[in-house]
Amino acid sequence: EARKKAASDFLFFTEPMAIRLNEKMAMERDLRRALENEEFELYYQPQIRLHDRQVIGMEALIRWRHPEKGMVSPSLFIPVAEQTGMIIPINEWVIRTACEQTKQLLDRFPDLSVSINLSPYEFESRRFVDKLARLLADAGLPPHHLDLEITERMTMDTERALDILSKLKGLGVTISMDDFGTGYSSLSYLTDLPIDRLKIDRSFVQHIQGKKDVILPAIIRLGHNIGVKVLAEGVETETEAAYLQGKRCDEAQGYYFSPPLPYDELVRFLNGQRVRRQAQELT
Ligand code: C2E
Ligand code: MG
Ligand code: MG
Ligand code: MG
Repeated sequence: EARKKAASDFLFFTEPMAIRLNEKMAMERDLRRALENEEFELYYQPQIRLHDRQVIGMEALIRWRHPEKGMVSPSLFIPVAEQTGMIIPINEWVIRTACEQTKQLLDRFPDLSVSINLSPYEFESRRFVDKLARLLADAGLPPHHLDLEITERMTMDTERALDILSKLKGLGVTISMDDFGTGYSSLSYLTDLPIDRLKIDRSFVQHIQGKKDVILPAIIRLGHNIGVKVLAEGVETETEAAYLQGKRCDEAQGYYFSPPLPYDELVRFLNGQRVRRQAQELT
């Protein structure tokens, strides 16, 4: 009787685990193959300075063109990549590509910077600072054109985060706090972290319409009080853009200005902006 029970426990506990492990291994293989077969693409979403509506940079966002599944969203495969460690070579590809492509744009658009999303896994990695220095040098991109997006989660161990961030800042890159307001950061140490920008999470921007809003102006003031720039994510309408501008929010990103674009379309977008600006200056 006891043996029977033990056997059924065994089946009960091991079967789902085995499936999960197999699935994970299959996905890891899939991701590795994707990297080898160049199935990843980098899209860029323009970031706009609100007061003059100039493009000041862009966020690099990965896309996976899967041969059978079509476009796979990063929110589906980045977590798997993180769990399997595949995020390290994948993000290395992201950083290399973003640096090389941004470098190509500097002749015509000398003030642009590119933001990339760091994963917690690589933030913790000892070798990351050296690797980043090498990637920047290989691409010939001056470090102040690269912005690293981190999340509040990564800074929970404040001492450690301070150490890593100061090393990264030592390279000359800038740091943005992504999805700000959704994490666990204790506001008290925000002042100690060497960050350059807060990116207010889209969820706060969505609430602008209608409701009496106290959060957004408070976050913008908080950012300015600690001496950092503030960018609003997920801006979808002129009403939102104008509201944020009125509250002295520095920058914005969102479908209203542009969705994430393939590199060629980004170049077209930037050229169009320049033509419009020149036309404005003539009149
Ligand atoms: P995130 O860094 O917060 O990126 C912003 C997400 O919001 C992007 O989703 C973008 O396409 C979407 N978005 C931008 N404007 C709007 C808007 O106006 N309305 C709405 N509804 N959405 C908007 P995406 O590209 O699917 O990326 C999802 C997340 O995946 C990113 O969130 C980031 O955390 C992660 N991710 C993307 N690319 C990479 C990467 O290369 N490396 C790593 N480690 N993570 C990445
Ligand atoms: Mg981001
Ligand atoms: Mg974000
Ligand atoms: Mg977000």
